[in-house]
Amino acid sequence: MDCLFCKIINQEIPASIVYQDDKVIAFNDINPQAPFHALVIPRKHIPTLNDIADEDRELVGHMLQVAGKIAQEQGFASDGYRTVFNCNTHGGQTVYHIHLHLLGGKPMGWPPYQDQLKTPV
Ligand code: 5GP
Ligand code: ZN
Repeated sequence: MDCLFCKIINQEIPASIVYQDDKVIAFNDINPQAPFHALVIPRKHIPTLNDIADEDRELVGHMLQVAGKIAQEQGFASDGYRTVFNCNTHGGQTVYHIHLHLLGGKPMGWPPYQDQLKTPV
């Protein structure tokens, strides 16, 4: 399968891994948007959030728990951090293997893009 993140899981492409177990791996984002920016991904190939099946519920919950554990290890859990799943084009998804962004080490703005302030809801 021609999936960038499956290639990272299969060690065909190198990555700076910060956590791994039998269900998920986490590695530093190649283009960090915060002092710490990692991606938590399942070893199972799931293209988007729209493709999460009932059987994947525990796996996705585990991804979130791992993000919290990494935040604690990195020392920014109590200061706080941002977790993001982007989905499809409007969500800004560019790699079609679900991944949880974990960003920390500085205060985050909200909303994430200033132009959203000008867009009526
Ligand atoms: P998305 O835009 O799909 O939510 O996030 C994809 C993320 O993957 C981006 O933040 C991008 O910087 C990161 N990324 C893309 N290619 C690579 C790569 O080859 N290695 C790593 N470590 N991150 C990547
Ligand atoms: Zn994949």
